Amino acid sequence: MEILVIGGGAAGMSAASWARRKAPEARITVLERTNIISHAPCGVPYYIGGLFKDYWLLQAYDVKFFRERRNIEVLTNAEAEELDVRSRVVVARVGGQRVKLEFDRLIVATGARPRRLLSADARVLYVHHPADAEAARRAAEAAREVTVVGGGVLGVEVAEQLRNMGKAVHLVHRGPYLMSRDLDKELGSALTQMARGAGIDVRLGVTCV
Ligand SMILES: Cc1cc2nc3c(=O)[nH]c(=O)nc-3n(C[C@H](O)[C@H](O)[C@H](O)COP(=O)(O)OP(=O)(O)OC[C@H]3O[C@@H](n4cnc5c(N)ncnc54)[C@H](O)[C@@H]3O)c2cc1C
Repeated sequence: MEILVIGGGAAGMSAASWARRKAPEARITVLERTNIISHAPCGVPYYIGGLFKDYWLLQAYDVKFFRERRNIEVLTNAEAEELDVRSRVVVARVGGQRVKLEFDRLIVATGARPRRLLSADARVLYVHHPADAEAARRAAEAAREVTVVGGGVLGVEVAEQLRNMGKAVHLVHRGPYLMSRDLDKELGSALTQMARGAGIDVRLGVTCV
């Protein structure tokens, strides 16, 4: 049996490992669009802030581990571009070549996408995937003043790191207080005050388009 997994993040690599346990004889292949798998995006704000310099610390297990220890083939820089469910074929771009991969079972674990701003230009960076981290870090280092859009947990983490780097930071959030989807008013207001106390210019009730 051929099992194909699209996406080499936490969900994709866990699903591939689970499939290996359930189907010891299957051929399992994972396609990952970027150069990194089994990654931990939770480290990205701290990588941007310079708390650690080694990009590969964002990866829990590497391709070799999955190949040798779990008998799972992993193709990086391999983006699934087309899916034909009826013929059970995925067409992927692997290192510049278009490759057809057949499957008996397909697992789609492509994650989520950040909402794109309509007014975005090259100065707008999205902090979502470890593959975005290097560009975000270089841009942060070069900037004097940064606006962070979104006052959820990630926005707060990124704003804190940028402030620690000595940047002038504006944090724009559409809710009435920071992390308003996760915290009640009392805690969220305390967090908002702390952020302001740390010198972050918090703007509430603002929606960026
Ligand atoms: C900055 C940041 C900080 C976070 N901090 C925390 C935290 O502290 N604690 C916590 O629990 N969660 C945290 N999260 C959330 C957590 O990272 C996600 O819930 C988790 O990464 C989801 O895993 P996933 O595998 O579903 O998706 P993803 O991690 O998005 O992985 C999907 C993978 O699929 C690949 N892919 C997409 N399309 C294709 C395609 N067509 N072909 C091939 N590959 C494709 C992508 O490149 C990606 O590697 C954070 C997220 C971010 C962005």
